[in-house]
Amino acid sequence: MMKYLVLGNPIAHSKSPQIHQAFAAQFNLENFVYERCLAPLDGFAAVVADFVAAGGKGANVTVPFKEDAFRLSSVLTPRAAAAGAVNTLKVNTDGSLLGDNTDGAGLVSDLLRYCPLAGKRVLLLGAGGAAAGVLQSLLAEQPVRLCIANRSLERAHALAYRFSGQALAIQSFAFEAITGEFDVVINATSASLSGQCLALPAGVFAAGSLAYDMMYGKGETPFLLEARLGGAEQCVDGLGMLVGQAAEAFYLWTGLRADVEPVLARMRVAL
Ligand code: NDP
Repeated sequence: MMKYLVLGNPIAHSKSPQIHQAFAAQFNLENFVYERCLAPLDGFAAVVADFVAAGGKGANVTVPFKEDAFRLSSVLTPRAAAAGAVNTLKVNTDGSLLGDNTDGAGLVSDLLRYCPLAGKRVLLLGAGGAAAGVLQSLLAEQPVRLCIANRSLERAHALAYRFSGQALAIQSFAFEAITGEFDVVINATSASLSGQCLALPAGVFAAGSLAYDMMYGKGETPFLLEARLGGAEQCVDGLGMLVGQAAEAFYLWTGLRADVEPVLARMRVAL
């Protein structure tokens, strides 16, 4: 059996089992099993240990355990080390854990379906785990400007400082202080979850710009509504990122590159 899990709390809403079973079906992996696991808030390490002892091969990790998974990993991929968080665990043959973070690769692969990022002005909204998880991948695409804005300004400053390299100095702002216009605006806050918009300054969305909300679901999110009214040309939710990060995890576990398109199309219809 190839046994995999998604671990989180809560976890009932997770679409990861459908996505991974669909990937496995593309390769006729009949012994591929993928389940949801509600881990107790204080019991993540014990659940992982039991899973490894039972022959588990790998796990996806979601809120609120990405930092626990980071600490539990014996080896980290460079992108997980940069993010400070792990969303994918692979069980090595000796039972030790490789920690990876596939969120950035999932986001960038989805963004590139709509526009190139090289030479673009990119604004990342939010400074939590999702924002930290995607910054290295965004930088690798060589935007000409990369800014972070967050409700808590100190967190925006800290994240910008952490990722600013010699190639590009990342600027950080409070939402109301954002200056300039951007070709790509990515919402990595959870504001849309609580039905709130971000009240960005007028002029943030350049002509022809792409607005991307990591949140996904039925209908237009508050951020995408704000973006559309603010002049963004393309408004996209985070379903493609979800399927894209899953495809990266599947590749880490199996060495197989799943076809994202049919799975994404089916998920979109099922929303
Ligand atoms: P965190 O809790 O780590 O961070 C939340 C962020 O949102 C912080 O920057 C916080 O600001 C900000 N925020 C929360 N509420 C508001 C508000 N009302 N107004 C303005 N800012 C607000 O969450 P994550 O980073 O893990 O997740 C962020 C979002 O990304 C979620 O919606 C999640 O579902 C989505 N996501 C989607 C993925 C996908 O595959 N599509 C993958 C991962 C995440 P402050 O610092 O001031 O508190």
